[in-house]
Amino acid sequence: MANGNLKLAVQKKGRLSEKTMEMLKACGLEVDNYGERLLVPSRNYDIDILFLRDDDIPEYVKDGVADIGIVGENVMVEKQAAVSIVKRLGFSKCRLLIAVPENKELSNLNEINAKTIATSYPNILKSFLKENSLNAKIIEISGSVEIAPSLGVADMICDIVSTGNTLKMNKLKKSFPVFESEAVLIQSSAVEMDAHKKELLDNLLIRIDSVLTAKKSKYLMMNVPKNQLEKVIEILPSIKSPTVLPLADENLVAVHAVIPSETFWQINNKLKYAGASGILLLQIDNMIV
Ligand code: ATP
Ligand code: MG
Repeated sequence: MANGNLKLAVQKKGRLSEKTMEMLKACGLEVDNYGERLLVPSRNYDIDILFLRDDDIPEYVKDGVADIGIVGENVMVEKQAAVSIVKRLGFSKCRLLIAVPENKELSNLNEINAKTIATSYPNILKSFLKENSLNAKIIEISGSVEIAPSLGVADMICDIVSTGNTLKMNKLKKSFPVFESEAVLIQSSAVEMDAHKKELLDNLLIRIDSVLTAKKSKYLMMNVPKNQLEKVIEILPSIKSPTVLPLADENLVAVHAVIPSETFWQINNKLKYAGASGILLLQIDNMIV
């Protein structure tokens, strides 16, 4: 393993895997046949990908077995390993929250006092209780936390919730939020990387930034009557001045602009009213600003 390559630990199989590999691919890293082997070197970058259970990633990174890792912030904080966040990655967003049986009301956080809460995240829950000066008994369960209240093991649970379907199936409902999480890139606070690895990491971070920036933007193209050009340009929230190109039809011009993704649906109708036609919105893979 001591080939000087940067070692990146990622989740082998689970909710982080697909998005993680998608991001690495968008960064231009070619990784063959992942999912079969524990360690896969990239074909075109001095990086080895280690495929692990997400629970093990913080510790492996702390010890320097992997130089960096991609893991849920929830797992990073829960494991309390000496690692730090290098970059927030913006995917696999989820929240840890308190859920109570459907027939119970929890209108004030203080009502948690003296109750029993089942969770797979005892450390995060402990900090939350401390921050809010609350006192509750924590029961640590490693999986299927949702069934604890119906088994009479706990009054409520603290778990990751996204759609709430699992809660509903177990006759539970969402209550107070405890922790917001997203995927993060981590490095060890205990082991320092050598200069070569630092350089590889810096270069990777430039690529990740470009991918994250590109995700926030879209490439907009449309045809606009010449006499409406000024109006259309006024509507556009472009990052830079838009490109205006001549068309075979002399009355029309093509307008191209990079816009923040979330603004499209706000300006779409305005553009149409202003006379824009053939509106196309394209994804951007990489963007260096
Ligand atoms: P492993 O086998 O690697 O231990 P796991 O079962 O512990 O996997 P997953 O369920 O695959 O973990 O979740 C991995 C991470 O994905 C979680 O720690 C969390 O950060 C994030 N996550 C979990 N549930 C969701 C969700 N519903 N939506 C988005 N992200 C989620
Ligand atoms: Mg896990």
